[in-house]
Amino acid sequence: MTEKSGPQHYPHADRTHWYQTRFPGDSMEVNVVVLHTTEGRTLPDYDGGAIAPNLTAVPDLTTRKLKWYQHFDIDVSSRALRNLSGGVETNTLNVCQAELVGTCSPDTHRKWRDAGKAHVFWPEAPAWALLELARFLAWMHEEHDVPLRGPALWPAYPQSFGSKAGQRMSGREWNAFKGVCGHTHVPENDHGDPGAIDFSGLLKFARETLDD
Ligand SMILES: [Zn+2]
Repeated sequence: MTEKSGPQHYPHADRTHWYQTRFPGDSMEVNVVVLHTTEGRTLPDYDGGAIAPNLTAVPDLTTRKLKWYQHFDIDVSSRALRNLSGGVETNTLNVCQAELVGTCSPDTHRKWRDAGKAHVFWPEAPAWALLELARFLAWMHEEHDVPLRGPALWPAYPQSFGSKAGQRMSGREWNAFKGVCGHTHVPENDHGDPGAIDFSGLLKFARETLDD
């Protein structure tokens, strides 16, 4: 396969926060989507792009839509994963990364809720948000052959931090993986996002979108 095949821009994504000029990255042929949560309520600056993903989805709670921002081409490595020297590759291992604005932490959810700060708690995401995310996964499947499958274990945060819950892939599993997973599954990383997102519901929505 040639590198960077298929459309490189997610339709209608805003590209005003584009970081590929400053951080050219590696060209790839993606076969994995990694999901993150930002643990904030607005589009992050990502240290000027230094730790940016390929895309960010910002929930608009009024219109019940995700506003997508794209920061790198689909088939270009982004920068939101930790990568140790030696071991396996992470950001550059044919991975397209998407950050979901909101939280996966029940504590943060409670604090924001009590303070009246509107947000999405991704483990209890409203159906419209899950559906819009599923549409992105369906597009990645149709245009970039990313399989609509992934790990069985999606532990809740904070149990999902580190690897005690048994969800984190070994280097060998990661190298062989094709599909959709979370930051919580990537080796050499300890972050637990996106926590207990409804992964089976997400895949169900994505498959239904394909049937349209
Ligand atoms: Zn993350």
